[in-house]
Amino acid sequence: MGLFDPDRYFSRVTRISPEADLVACGFENMLLDMDNTILSRATHDIPRDVRAWLADVREAGVNICLLSNNWHKTPFEWAAELDLPVVAKALKPLPHGYLAARAKLGARSANTVVVGDQLSTDVVGAHLLGMQAYLVCPLVEQDLKHTLLLRNFERALLGARTPEGAQACEGRE
Ligand SMILES: [Mg+2]
Repeated sequence: MGLFDPDRYFSRVTRISPEADLVACGFENMLLDMDNTILSRATHDIPRDVRAWLADVREAGVNICLLSNNWHKTPFEWAAELDLPVVAKALKPLPHGYLAARAKLGARSANTVVVGDQLSTDVVGAHLLGMQAYLVCPLVEQDLKHTLLLRNFERALLGARTPEGAQACEGRE
């Protein structure tokens, strides 16, 4: 497993089946990125289908901790609204945020999956700690400048790899 090599790659976070891709794979815990994974950078909202997916994941018995590099108060507001634990200012891919999030859930590497839209933060950080990582296409193309720069590099690394659940990263808002 390469540092930059996601274990699975999905066209949208909602394509991750709570039963087939989480529970059946032994994942009882999820460290979940926010920006452009569940929270649109365009609308600054969580799309309705993503909210439904979050409910389905929890219904399946998978514990979620939000793990965000965001420095603003947004992660805390969303965490309160969604009633989920959160680690913000995580400085992904550095390990301490992952460790804090994992500790909040009482989780181990083996039963935890990291889900996010960036190779160089979400995926690399997961792999540094021996956790599996599911990469998802960003909800929208719009993003912070430095993130967009990183995405060019990440696209090159992904090459022709096609996400599960779509022909390509299409159908985004
Ligand atoms: Mg993100």
